Amino acid sequence: MAQESRKTTGRSFWAWGLEALEPTAAQMASAGAALASRFGMKLTGQAPPRLQDVKLRRPRLKPPATLAEFCATGKFERALHSCGHSFPDRVSKFRGEFATPPDVVAFPRTEDEAVAALDWAYSSGAAVIPYGGGSSVVGGVTPPAEAERVVTIDLTGLNRVLEVDRVSRAARIQAGVLGPDLEAQLKAHQLTLRHFPQSFEFSTLGGWIVTRSAGHYATNRTHIDEFVESIRMITPKGIWESRRLPGSGAGPDPNRIVCGSEGTLGLVTEAWVRLQAKPRFRESAGVAFAGLAPAAEAARRIVQANLWPANCRVLDPGESATNAGLTGAQALLVIGFESSEVPQASLMRDALDIAMETGGKIVDRAGDSVPGPVAPGPVDRWRTSFIQMPYRWNELLGFGLINDTFESAITWDRWPDFDKAVRAKLGRAMREVAGKGDLNCRFTHVYPDGPAPYYSFTCPGRPGSEVGMWQEIKAAASEAIIAAGGTITHHHAVGRDHVAGYEQEAPELFRAAFRSMKSSLDPSELLNPGVLSGSR
Ligand SMILES: Cc1cc2nc3c(=O)[nH]c(=O)nc-3n(C[C@H](O)[C@H](O)[C@H](O)COP(=O)(O)OP(=O)(O)OC[C@H]3O[C@@H](n4cnc5c(N)ncnc54)[C@H](O)[C@@H]3O)c2cc1C
Repeated sequence: MAQESRKTTGRSFWAWGLEALEPTAAQMASAGAALASRFGMKLTGQAPPRLQDVKLRRPRLKPPATLAEFCATGKFERALHSCGHSFPDRVSKFRGEFATPPDVVAFPRTEDEAVAALDWAYSSGAAVIPYGGGSSVVGGVTPPAEAERVVTIDLTGLNRVLEVDRVSRAARIQAGVLGPDLEAQLKAHQLTLRHFPQSFEFSTLGGWIVTRSAGHYATNRTHIDEFVESIRMITPKGIWESRRLPGSGAGPDPNRIVCGSEGTLGLVTEAWVRLQAKPRFRESAGVAFAGLAPAAEAARRIVQANLWPANCRVLDPGESATNAGLTGAQALLVIGFESSEVPQASLMRDALDIAMETGGKIVDRAGDSVPGPVAPGPVDRWRTSFIQMPYRWNELLGFGLINDTFESAITWDRWPDFDKAVRAKLGRAMREVAGKGDLNCRFTHVYPDGPAPYYSFTCPGRPGSEVGMWQEIKAAASEAIIAAGGTITHHHAVGRDHVAGYEQEAPELFRAAFRSMKSSLDPSELLNPGVLSGSR
């Protein structure tokens, strides 16, 4: 049989990242051995899937000749585009199971081609799934089982920085550009967006905007929303384009409606985003505390002092031991300041004074004000581990392990009780479902009125039953979060997996009003059905 000609180059159809970086048998064996000793049990791994063994249902739709050149119906592209990177997605892909692949994947290279693909899919009555990097962890790019036809529109061909306004420090950028390519193009102009979600390598500007992604900045401008100046979006009813403005008080903000719309209102093709000059001045510190409570208290006081560190992340003792090499009894506060304009040493001094008043001990310090070469410490160890984490997850597949993360945000007054409730409910769920498990927490972002806690859990599952077991644990996590007053998601988005939590969190009248707006843009309700709303 002729080799399928691929439009997506290099990507693995099952693992996070490139095919060339799929884990080797030796890496998987060593990950399995480490897990077996961690959980005190025997673990037998399985081999990764091979594309030639994958069976997909036949495409139920054929693109017309006018679009065929930029559409694909081959196995690789349909498998790759059949889901994102949630835990169930990772497990299904590793097993070579692709239950609901799209029938056609379109790869427009221009906005006109994107409009043509949307018009054709829409007039064919196909569900339309906008697709950026496919890094959704909430089922945001998974075709719904009940759809009779599905066209996924992969926007990564729209990948150029089109215009740079150096005076206002902003750029007009096509929405399908992946993180590294975006930064490389901006570098030529000595500018940067500095939006670095952990999925930076394989996620896009458009995906960040519609999922309200949170990135590099741990305080102040945490979400991409703050960097969006204007948006251009194609919809079944025409073009939605907002005016470029540094701020506006003119009624409800059209940009804020697109931010968080998750492909249900249209396909974002371009945005003007606010940029910065590359930082020249940097200060970084790691401060150890005798537990999570004083570290959280230090973070609260630093953020309430309006010092606005770029980085202000708290790692609980479990997370500090696993990913930063601390003792297991200490929590770690990572503080970072950066600026393209002014030295940051005095801000760091103020932050460290607060941290030490709260009982912290400096265990790592680097930056312009620290003379001489500095050996890598806990902060570097944590950063490296953070960047490599998705690749480590690839190695853990096939052992029946259940590992996932979930995140929220809660006001400071409720934080300690929230954390207690989440840990109690999750601990119970892991014991009941899996017998045992680990749960760690870190603050990814902190606000003057509360932290954004991010929990990671790992427990041994039974190979073949991991997804069902995960569903029970995930349901317990979501219930605990909502019951304790937090948000169902601080930045992972709603997708299909968080709809129940979102429906409890957002006012009913607001959701009804949003559905009316969707109906006026998407009268046949074909844009990403099932995302944001269970009702179709
Ligand atoms: C390992 C890992 C780490 C992650 N870390 C972070 C993190 O640090 N911060 C964070 O915020 N998130 C994180 N995420 C979640 C995910 O990366 C974000 O939601 C990201 O913004 C999705 O971008 P994407 O381009 O991959 O979008 P996709 O996954 O392709 O799509 C996500 C949603 O957006 C829609 N969509 C995509 N592009 C467009 C477009 N141009 N127009 C209209 N709709 C569109 C899709 O239909 C879907 O509903 C992580 C995910 C993984 C797997």
